This record gives sequence, C-alpha cells and structure tokens, in this order.
Amino acid sequence: MDILNTEIQFLPGVGPKRASLLAKELNIITYRDMLYTFPFRYVDRTNIQNIADIVPTMAYVQIKGKVVAKTIAGERRKSRLVITVADATGRLDLVFFQGIKWMNDRARIGDEYIVFGKPSVFGGEINMVHPELESPGAKAATYGSSLTGVYPSTERLKNSGITNKVFTKLMATLLGIVGNGIQENIPEYIVRKSGIIPRREALKSIHFPPGTAELGKASFRLKFEELFLLQLSLLKQRYSRMYEEDGIRMPAVGEAFNKCYNALPFDLTGAQKRVIREIRDDMKSGRQMNRLLQGDVGSGKTLVALMTALIAIGNGYQACIMAPTEVLAQQHFGNLKKYLAPLFPVDWTENEAEGGFGIALLTGSSKAKQRRMIDKGLREGHIKIIVGTHALIEDNVVFRSLGLAVIDEQHRFGVAQRSKLWNKTEGSAPPHVLVMTATPIPRTLAMTLYGDLEVSVIDELPPGRKPVRTIHATETKRAAMYNFIQQQIALGRQVFIVYPLIFESEKMDYANLEKGYEAIVEAFPFPKYRTAIVHGKQSNEEKNRNMKAFVEGRADILVATSVIEVGVDVPNATVMVIESAERFGLSQLHQLRGRVGRGSESSYCILMTDFRISRESKKRIDLMCSTEDGFVLAEEDMKMRGPGDIEGTMQSGMPVDLKIASLGKDGDILEFARKTAREVLSTDPLLQMESNALLLRSLATYRDTPADYSKIS
Ligand code: ADP
Ligand code: MG
Repeated sequence: MDILNTEIQFLPGVGPKRASLLAKELNIITYRDMLYTFPFRYVDRTNIQNIADIVPTMAYVQIKGKVVAKTIAGERRKSRLVITVADATGRLDLVFFQGIKWMNDRARIGDEYIVFGKPSVFGGEINMVHPELESPGAKAATYGSSLTGVYPSTERLKNSGITNKVFTKLMATLLGIVGNGIQENIPEYIVRKSGIIPRREALKSIHFPPGTAELGKASFRLKFEELFLLQLSLLKQRYSRMYEEDGIRMPAVGEAFNKCYNALPFDLTGAQKRVIREIRDDMKSGRQMNRLLQGDVGSGKTLVALMTALIAIGNGYQACIMAPTEVLAQQHFGNLKKYLAPLFPVDWTENEAEGGFGIALLTGSSKAKQRRMIDKGLREGHIKIIVGTHALIEDNVVFRSLGLAVIDEQHRFGVAQRSKLWNKTEGSAPPHVLVMTATPIPRTLAMTLYGDLEVSVIDELPPGRKPVRTIHATETKRAAMYNFIQQQIALGRQVFIVYPLIFESEKMDYANLEKGYEAIVEAFPFPKYRTAIVHGKQSNEEKNRNMKAFVEGRADILVATSVIEVGVDVPNATVMVIESAERFGLSQLHQLRGRVGRGSESSYCILMTDFRISRESKKRIDLMCSTEDGFVLAEEDMKMRGPGDIEGTMQSGMPVDLKIASLGKDGDILEFARKTAREVLSTDPLLQMESNALLLRSLATYRDTPADYSKIS
C-alpha cells in the first residue's frame, strides 16, 4: 500500500479527535491530503518589525516586545484578555477571547516575547487577535527553513489548539515519516523534459523552503503536476471518445440548410461561417459532437444554432434547442419562425403526414392538451425542431430520432440535466451536442472546465453595430440622466433600468427595486411613459406578460432585476441604466450592457454608483467604460476575483479542485501543462505504453480525490 494513503489519525500528535477536526475543517483525511495542504503565504521569521511601523494592511507581522500590562475585561463568556506589549517604538494590544486563563498564567509582566500575528483594527487602534507568542530564548522550530509557511486555518481549528505552529510541527513529523518514501507520480522522461524538480524534493521545499529560489522551483513543480494531471485526464476522455465511433453520421448538409442559407437577409460573418464549418465537420465525422460555442453577446450564436439544427434535419433527424428561461425560449421560437416560415410549411398537426417540417415550443406554461400533442408529435417525428425550457428534459418527452441538442446559455444547466438529453432517443447513438454560452470564459478557464469539449469561438460581431457608449454617473447626475432617457424615448427608443439582486439581502434588494420603480413611475408618469417591471418574485405568467410588453414595444421602460441579463434581444432598446453598478461583477455588467447596441441606433450604458465606492469597484467601473471586449473583461474579472466567482464555474459541474495552481495567475503553466499532456497523448492516446503506466496510476489517484467545489481558486 502507498504510505500516503495512511489515515491522518495515525500520525503521531494527531489521534482520532484531531483527525475528525482536520477532516471537517480542511478536508484532510490521509497523509497525502495533509502533504497537499500547502501554505498560502510565507513569513520570513528572521524579520522583526518595529511596533510603530505596523499598518493594518500588513498580512502577518512579527515583533519583539515586553509585556507591560494585562487586563481581563468583560463577563464570563464574553470576557477577553488584553496583553499589552511594548518595544522601543511603541505599544501594541494582544487580544485573546479563548484560552484566557492559560495565556494569563503564562505571560507575566516583564517577560519578553516574539509575537507573530495578523494586525487588525479595533476602535481606531491597531491590535492583534490571537497572535502566537514565543520566548526569544526558546529557539524557534524552523526545520531548516528560513521561511515559515502560513497554512489555511479556521476558527475551530485555532480554538482547538491546532494553531499554525502546531500544524507546522505536524507537517514536520509527517515529512520525517514519509519524506524519503515519496514516489514520483510523473514518469522520469517527462520530469526531465519539462525541467521540473522531483516530487519528493518539491513536497519538502514547499512546506519548509530553504530559500526563495527553492520555493519557486517547488511551487512550479507542484503547479505543473496539478495542471498536467488535470489536463491529461480531460484530454484523455476526449481522445477516447475520438477513438470510438459512437456518433450519428450526418454526411449531408441538406436542402433545408441550403434553402435557408440562400434566403438570409444578410451575409454570415466570417466567424459564423468558420464555426458552422467546424460544427459541420464534427457532425459528419461519425463521432459524437460535444462542442462549446462561445460568442460575445450579439455575436449571432442563435443563427448558428438554427443552421446546425437544419443540418440535423437535412439528415433525417430531429433537433431540440433548450433555453434557460421561458422568455428566451419564446424569443428563439419567434426567430425560428421568422426565418423558416417563409420557406417551409412549419405548422404541424396530429394528422399531418410524416415528413412535415414542424417546429414547436414547449415550456412550463404549455397547456396539458398542447403538451400531449407535442409529446405525440415528437414521438412520431412530425416535429422537426422543438424549442423549450427545462420542460424538454422531463421523462415523458421522447423523440423519434433526436440528432442534435443545442443548449443555450449553458451555465444555467447542470451537467446532470444536460446528460438527460443524451437518452431521449432509445437505443440509438447519442445526439450531437452544441452548448452555447455568451459568458466569455477566459481561455485558461475554458481549457480547464471544458477540457473535454471542443471549443469554437465567434470573435466577430455582425457589421454595422455601433459601439455602446458607457458612462459612469453618481446621484448628482440623476436629473440629467432622467432627462436623457426622456429624449431617447421621445426618439422612439426603449430603456432598461436594472437593479442588483444579491441573495443575502434579498428583502432589501426588493425594497430597493420597488422604491426605484416608484421613483421611475413618478419621474416618468403614465400615460406619456409606459413602464413595466420584471423580477424573480413574480409568477411566470406575470413575468412573461411584462417582458413581452417591453419586447413588443408596448412599454418604454423596463425596470428589472438582473433576470434580464441573459439573451433578451430588443433591438429598439438603446439605453441600459444599471443602478448600484458597484454591486455587480464585471462579467455581469458586460452581459447587461450587451442587451443594448443590438440595433442600428447609438446606444448607451449608464453605470450609476454611490459617490463613494471602493478602489476595487472603481477599477471595475473604469474598465467597463474603457472596453467592450468581453474576453478582456472576463480575464480581468478572473484576475480580480478568482475564477470561482465567475458565474457558471460552480454549476458547470466539472471537478476542479486546484490546491496550488491558480487559473487566473498561472495561465502560462497551464498552457505548458496542456501542451505536455497533448504530446504524451498524441503518441499514446489511451496511455497503454509501459513508459506511461505510472501516469495511468497517478490519474486513478487523482480522480479518487473527492472534488471540493467550494474552493475553486
Ligand atoms: P447572440 O445569441 O450571440 O447574443 P443573436 O443570435 O441573438 O446573438 O444575434 C443578435 C442579432 O444579430 C440578431 O438580431 C440577429 O438577427 C443579428 N445577426 C446575427 N447574425 C448576423 C449577421 N451575420 N449579420 C447581421 N446581423 C446578424
Ligand atoms: Mg443568444
């Protein structure tokens, strides 16, 4: 047995109680988990600061001072111990809420200590809560390292005595036991070629770095290892699929495609043509297509979906297009009808002969009778294209021959929901799958999350689009903003006004929304102005009615929460006002802005914020005002917030549990790791060669590690 699989409770100094705590708090179950729990920061223990130089923004500091005063304040459970220490430059309060008695007995007036902790501010004064104290005489345990790692921790761990010092000591014990037995998990030839240091050395140095140079090498090795195994596992899945002939072969383009293509009122963009070609190649290959189509808002993905559906039909199969909301499904259906109805008879009935070109819409609000007809039409094959919402994945929806499933704005669907579509046609090959998303996903993230999907990108907008002018304004400009809206409405245009919706304070958010709505109705009185409101608390019916009023031009202003973020296409809308814009993330702001600028008129996005906003928020707002490139914004967003926050990451269902690499910062290593993985697989796609046997074993270990979705970083 691999010694790294030993349960952590058997490590001297741990035992069952601490083991269960480590499992709960840090997900550490085995020796391996412990070894792969890395410091997130290092402190140079030889560096002692003056108390006077401490500022609250410092992460961790170390000072040397004498205890000059002690007080215990508060009552029973709320009591606290304050130990004041002083050096030649000033005084500092150390605050303890736990272990008061122990600490009080230990620290005597006049004693000198090395104090290590994180500065915080209380009542305008800098202090330190629960720092670590060490006598300067007692030689600090450095384990031969000049840098001390700071490990992730939690309140509960600290309160149970597993401080950073204790954790470090346990790590030293562990390395003492397993250190020399740590086996390589990447074949020697790859280690040599990539110029990485051996695993054993890396794991020692990452915990107890002899110096910064060694730390750098250790961190590179471990990041590479992590990303390489991840890429290898994802690419291998893809390669195995390519080797199996498991898809529906669709050799023809078909008459429907050609007829529609020739009738289009505009030329497809170069990017649209390229993407359709990529899709077409997949569909005729005999392998199942699993393709992600990325394209910024307004880049014309819907049309690509339609053309793709027509290929499926041209080969005698059915297609379905699934959208995340009813409004979007209706919109897609409307578009489909617009393009297809002039060319083909699209109506279908129960009695229509097979071979008709039926298109249908199925949503949660479809009536029972209609639903039964649709079920029948799908089973018998009269319906060629069905557009719908989640209703499409219900069990009673069965196709005669589903050849293509298009999923729009995929981040709203989980993997489990998607895979239900696979089994809609009994007994035959799974349908081709095209997943579309308008959330621009940075390359590094896409490579990781969708490593098993082919990726197509529409990186070109249809011609004639005017850029959206983005303006930052504060409350003092509200009157001017209203004025501007009135002018736009006088020109016959429509306006979105969006309020943030953040779940923690849902009640307050709705209060804001409602107050905002009242203010708008007052400033824009009916009947001169018609204002509609849409939010998540409304019934589906109400939401649809109001949304429709705006889409059809019966309302001038739409007040909404971010529910309108996805996909809605109202070319006549030229102004997007975003209230409390500082509360939105970059990607979300970009999605919202994408709702305007879809027609031929000049469009505007007005970002309203408080007069005082954080530096971080200001940076986001400035960035929005300076670029419209969704990919630039997504990259920046990821750098600023970490990829875990990017919408869809969590729901995408891919097990990404990176312990040391960061998708935002380690893009270069990721590319290198992916390239290396590709090279390995290009000669040995299924890793059957002797020289790669170790990799197969490493992948098995790697996959057995339970994924922790809460820590994508
Ligand atoms: P997306 O779904 O990518 O956000 P849509 O497919 O809704 O974008 O397209 C946005 C608008 O652009 C639609 O009104 C559509 O008819 C139009 N459009 C799509 N492709 C082209 C093109 N090649 N030339 C001109 N207009 C186009
Ligand atoms: Mg769309």
